[in-house]
Amino acid sequence: MRTLLLLTCLLFIQCTEKKTPPKTIPPPTTKSENPPVAPPDTPKPEKEESIEPEPYTPDYDTSQWQEVNRLDPSILLDLRYATDNNFVDEKMYDCGRCFLRPAVATAVVKAHQFLQKQGYGFKMYDCYRPRPIQWKLWNKVPDPRYVADPRKGSMHNRGMAVDLTIVDSLGNELDMGTDFDFFGREAYHSYGGHSDEVTDNRILLLETMEEHGFRPTSTEWWHYSYKPKTFKLDNWLWPCE
Ligand SMILES: [Zn+2]
Repeated sequence: MRTLLLLTCLLFIQCTEKKTPPKTIPPPTTKSENPPVAPPDTPKPEKEESIEPEPYTPDYDTSQWQEVNRLDPSILLDLRYATDNNFVDEKMYDCGRCFLRPAVATAVVKAHQFLQKQGYGFKMYDCYRPRPIQWKLWNKVPDPRYVADPRKGSMHNRGMAVDLTIVDSLGNELDMGTDFDFFGREAYHSYGGHSDEVTDNRILLLETMEEHGFRPTSTEWWHYSYKPKTFKLDNWLWPCE
């Protein structure tokens, strides 16, 4: 019954950040075995429009940002783009830090603390992503099925989106059916072939996030965007400490 409710619910969810991949989406693969290849008719990236990172300076107004695990150090981090364990197999950030707009960070912390009462918590895969980093990703994979076009920007570039999963009290990730950034139907909310355990875990994440002001995207179980407020696209790049 919970699965039915979830599927019914998701019929009404619009994907706001990226289009649903076309039916010609390649069969699911693991990112390390077969990273996505741009189709031949994909326009070439326009590197001349790349934006330079806006580096941290001591007088930068950091009140626009909140670092999530400074608000609550019990939130775990596995910031994949600060490692080469990601779908482009390349380190995108010099160092991994999870910044969000303050209202978004507060909502994540409240959701995490809600889960803690049930013996769970969050592990973050990605948070605010500076737009120059979006260009780096786009120049590697210029395909809007996998990466948002940096000219348009994404909710991550606004500091309003998170990629995350749920961990148990020992820090073990719950089984969500696929890894983060798995591009295939098994990552969709509508995919019906997962076990009851996986379905229940995804529902726990979905209900927790929706309860705290976030909305899902149809093709990525790990991605949630904060809706109550809108913030601008940003180029700021955090310092490494
Ligand atoms: Zn995301």
